[in-house]
Amino acid sequence: MKLKIIQADITTIKVDAIVNAANSSLLGGSGVDGAIHRKGGLEILNACRAIISKQGKCKVGEAVITTAGNLPSQFVIHTVGPVWNQGGIEKEQLLANCYTNSIALAIENEIKIIAFPNISTGIYKFPKELAARIAIQTVRNHKDAYKFKEVIFVCFDLENFECYKKIIKNDENKS
Ligand code: ADP
Repeated sequence: MKLKIIQADITTIKVDAIVNAANSSLLGGSGVDGAIHRKGGLEILNACRAIISKQGKCKVGEAVITTAGNLPSQFVIHTVGPVWNQGGIEKEQLLANCYTNSIALAIENEIKIIAFPNISTGIYKFPKELAARIAIQTVRNHKDAYKFKEVIFVCFDLENFECYKKIIKNDENKS
């Protein structure tokens, strides 16, 4: 599995699946969620509505999969990150669950290349370095269960981009 760190707008990326940092309503919001729905169009929204009417709201840490509508990718995996200022110490576990449950859907759908945004680090205010460590560690924990061709961390802001690069570099120096 190749881990790649890039700085980009995730809606421009052409991979098997991009992950959306959604909210529990799955009806779109601000940040990356807004960008995905805006560019992906009604097809994504309708698919989300169908999921909600069948199973209710998407809980924190859970994930669902839809078409990518007008986006260049094939699928969007929507996952709901934890809000840093809400709830107790389980926030780190809930963020890890976002990655684990997204990966589980990717495996089910035989997705080989997946791109993650920096879930919860925008409006949900999760500390960026801690979120990056959890993201990288959780993805690495799955490397023997399924052979992804590539897992891409798509950083939007420079702070996240630098954070991911630093962690990967430090890990390489240790091994
Ligand atoms: P959350 O509510 O989970 O914090 P946000 O969308 O507010 O979700 O932020 C999550 C991360 O997504 C932030 O690091 C933000 O910089 C980033 N982001 C915002 N727009 C985009 C985009 N178009 N592509 C990739 N990442 C984005």
